[in-house]
Amino acid sequence: MNSADITTVKSILSQPQKIAIIPHRNPDGDAMGSCLALYGFLKKKGHTVHVVAPNDYPKFLKWMPENDAVINFERENPKAKEVINEASIIFTLDFNDLSRVGQMEQVLKEASADFIMIDHHQQPSDYAMVTYSDVTMSSTCEMVYNFIEFLGETDQIDADMATNLYTGIMTDTGSFKYRSTSSKTHRVVAELIDKGADNMAIHQEVFDTNSPSRLHLLGVALSNMVILPEYRTAYITLTQDELDQYDFKKGDTEGFVNYGLTLEGIIFALIFIENREEGIIKISLRSIGDFSVNEFARAHFNGGGHTNAAGGRSESSMEETISRFNDILKTYKDKLNP
Ligand code: 5GP
Ligand code: MN
Repeated sequence: MNSADITTVKSILSQPQKIAIIPHRNPDGDAMGSCLALYGFLKKKGHTVHVVAPNDYPKFLKWMPENDAVINFERENPKAKEVINEASIIFTLDFNDLSRVGQMEQVLKEASADFIMIDHHQQPSDYAMVTYSDVTMSSTCEMVYNFIEFLGETDQIDADMATNLYTGIMTDTGSFKYRSTSSKTHRVVAELIDKGADNMAIHQEVFDTNSPSRLHLLGVALSNMVILPEYRTAYITLTQDELDQYDFKKGDTEGFVNYGLTLEGIIFALIFIENREEGIIKISLRSIGDFSVNEFARAHFNGGGHTNAAGGRSESSMEETISRFNDILKTYKDKLNP
């Protein structure tokens, strides 16, 4: 954030504001962690603050401190709209374009509040009064830590805020192993542990709460995996029938896509998951190295994200989507074998 923006933010936050904090649709650990930590911080500063999530999020995040305060736009629509309409300031966290909030987009577009964006995704849209965008950052949680640091108030970070920030950094860095994990990330994480984040407990809450049906679904996913060595690609499909058979709950497929990348020589991994209710195939894309899944998802599947992690969607059937994907892949042979 540049010094002019820091001055602007300091001046805004020196008066009591009505603040709404918004994560992206299908919020992940980084989206929820950053929103909940910022929520704690702004509340301490005497503002009236609400977190409004576009829709529900997985059970493995529902233990997070302050999570009970989250308003779900789908379930508590009138209240959510009221909060957004009455807000003087709206923070949008962990997304780069208002289309990422689904049904909430129109309500946000009509809001009279000034927007502050904090995000690390590529190609941020220009809708905010203050845009703190940095694609080199490990996570929006690391940026919220920096944001509080810019304001000179890291002493305000308590154990709950530290726990929320730690959770988002941990989930977005694949437990501190992705390329975006810097020495600064580790310094921030060390600070968060000193401020009360219980690293082992957080890891267990997020990763060690498998249900038997989820592990069985992972078995199906792995046996469905198609490996294409000539394209250094591996992809998984899961149909709605398969999800139903294993009692699918939101979040159950989290991390499945990464298994493809553990194969020697594979640099591009995808998972295609049918969602019959929404009439789409949701696609998660991951890569190792310079192959940009952000560009791939943008160009072909109405999505985007980061160089090595992106998402997208297809409105065709699973068969058609896979067939189209295989055709597209042929045009990427050279890029995948540099
Ligand atoms: P995931 O595959 O875990 O859903 O998402 C991976 C990354 O891509 C995340 O950073 C997420 O914010 C981004 N992403 C996921 N789905 C979409 C999408 O439909 N559009 C865009 N622009 N980004 C997405
Ligand atoms: Mn993120």
